Amino acid sequence: FLPHLVASMEGVEQTYIMIKPDGVQRGLVGEIISRFERKGFKLTGLKLFQCPKELAEEHYKDLQSKPFFPKLIDYITSGPVVCMAWEGVGVVASARKLIGATNPLNAEPGTIRGDLAVQTGRNVVHGSDSPDNGKREIALWFKEGELCSWEAVQGPWLVE
Ligand code: UDP
Ligand code: MG
Repeated sequence: FLPHLVASMEGVEQTYIMIKPDGVQRGLVGEIISRFERKGFKLTGLKLFQCPKELAEEHYKDLQSKPFFPKLIDYITSGPVVCMAWEGVGVVASARKLIGATNPLNAEPGTIRGDLAVQTGRNVVHGSDSPDNGKREIALWFKEGELCSWEAVQGPWLVE
């Protein structure tokens, strides 16, 4: 071990990742979490949660006027979700790549949606679309004290 190695904090971001009710029901929780772990991101928040309607509406408020909005709220509140906060260099855009296109039929093989889903309305996972939304969504889904800031031993082996 080289104790003088320290990982730079440059470009470190936070993103909100959520395994939707279909991902939980289909037993994909471990599979999905492991993809972010193996990439090298750091888990800073994790809980199983039954989402109330009001929270789902607030989370997706930008889509309020869309015809699919009522069905989307029904879907997200139809069973427990897994709420996660992940941290790392470029994690917001990178997580979106790991997740794949919104419509799973257009998502590349190797992505979560490309490998594990077939329809937009059952696309198993959410990921924030910008660093600002990452912060907004983590604050929306997690209470004070539910997040953990910790130093991963692998830090300097991932980031120079
Ligand atoms: N969605 C849907 N029908 C659509 C578009 C979106 O049911 O035509 C749902 C889908 O679950 C999607 C979510 O609404 O993941 C949010 O839409 P967005 O465009 O933000 O896609 P994402 O960021 O999740 O890829
Ligand atoms: Mg989105």
